[in-house]
Amino acid sequence: MLIMKFGGTSVGSAERLQGVFALLKDAQDKKQSIVVVLSAMSGMTNSLIEGAQKAVKRDLKGALQIAAAIGDNHVQAIESLFVKSDTSMQLLREIQNHMQELEVLYKGVSYLGELTKRSMDAVSGMGELMSSKIMAAYCQSHGLNAKWMDARQFVVTDDHFGKANPLWDKLTPKTRETLLPILEKGTIVITQGFIGATEEGASTTLGRGGSDFSASIFGVALEADEIQIWTDVDGMMTADPRVVKDAVVLPEVSFQEASELAYFGAKVLHPMTIAPAVEKNIPVRILNTMAPDRQGTIIKESTKPKGIVSAIASKKGIVAFFITTPRMLMTHGFLVRIFEIFEKHETSIDLIATSEVSISITVDRLDTISAIAADLAHYGQVKVVRDVAIVTVVGEQFRDQSGIAGQIFDAMRKTNILMISGGASDINMSFVVSDDQADNAVQQLHQAFFAKTAAVK
Ligand code: ADP
Ligand code: ASP
Ligand code: MG
Repeated sequence: MLIMKFGGTSVGSAERLQGVFALLKDAQDKKQSIVVVLSAMSGMTNSLIEGAQKAVKRDLKGALQIAAAIGDNHVQAIESLFVKSDTSMQLLREIQNHMQELEVLYKGVSYLGELTKRSMDAVSGMGELMSSKIMAAYCQSHGLNAKWMDARQFVVTDDHFGKANPLWDKLTPKTRETLLPILEKGTIVITQGFIGATEEGASTTLGRGGSDFSASIFGVALEADEIQIWTDVDGMMTADPRVVKDAVVLPEVSFQEASELAYFGAKVLHPMTIAPAVEKNIPVRILNTMAPDRQGTIIKESTKPKGIVSAIASKKGIVAFFITTPRMLMTHGFLVRIFEIFEKHETSIDLIATSEVSISITVDRLDTISAIAADLAHYGQVKVVRDVAIVTVVGEQFRDQSGIAGQIFDAMRKTNILMISGGASDINMSFVVSDDQADNAVQQLHQAFFAKTAAVK
């Protein structure tokens, strides 16, 4: 069984949806059992969220304009894909219903002047429902044996709105009992990424970019043979191709390397995607919807050795806390108290560096900064630096080879490094630099470690 997940650009226009159809037809012709996981059409989730943000600021007119544009975008796709028929009329009615629901939600938010995470999830998950309905109808009207399924029926999550966690004990049996009978008949399941629901039936989302995570959830629940992530690049690359134009595709990446890269900013994969796949040892393949014949990247347990560095990633918009205190000297339990503060504010720590009198910590959550800083102030002098970035170098050879740190520092000699962290995983080395130096640091590192590869390409 295959899980095929298509990202926003892959379903971003009528033409792209036709491209996805061709891939599904090909897979069904090969008698593969397939669950298709779709994102919202590109830009739609951002627009849905922007509308809600306008509504809560009492700009209802602006919010409704956004809703109208979202509706138009889907109507246009339907009009390009279908001749006027019962199917197209039915689809248009469904889009209209979603738009009415969206308007009601925006009005509610605007009148109350309150936007809860719960309402935001009801709004932001709508794009996936619409794109998947269009895709399913298109497949059915072109002779493909496919069925649209609402992921909220089986992706059972907790009520951590905005970043819900799967409740595996409920989710797995529910997914299996709902989807397996359909798949056994040779029918393709077309469903949504990103969304789920609590046991009580409230809509949730898994966090931005979470459709990749959905694909891996389905893969694990259904014990798939492979999880395919279809996107707008040729695979996982040595760096973000938007930052480094010479970046090259990595044919093979280990689970551990992929997790580190995704966690530290390689947007091509949501950071939560790999962990479930590791548990069941299911390979994850990244492929380009626009160039489906290319080899892509396979992510699996172990891979052939690569060069010293496998890839470089960066994550911007981070905050760093620097705590200095002479009291740390020789006291046990100090770090625990510091960590408790982050725990209390439900803020997870990305990087840590400590010395005998100071500790540096980075986080990517911005709304708890002041509260954390206030609590930390009881323990010492606190400096908060915003707009910093983490630059991470990943390589499986770090474990066995010496002198690599020297080469990395040499490549970064022109960058002002604010913090260094060796990486608990022993395959990464991370640096904190200011946001505006991050791209440059990535480019310098790439130049140092991949210049030869790029030249061959
Ligand atoms: P989708 O909408 O298909 O989920 P995303 O925009 O989330 O696609 O992810 C694909 C993007 O990830 C690429 O366009 C690329 O700019 C970015 N990216 C960042 N780092 C990497 C990397 N190491 N390899 C490939 N792509 C990367
Ligand atoms: N549409 C959602 C987002 O933009 C989920 C995804 O595309 O992965 O965050
Ligand atoms: Mg994505």
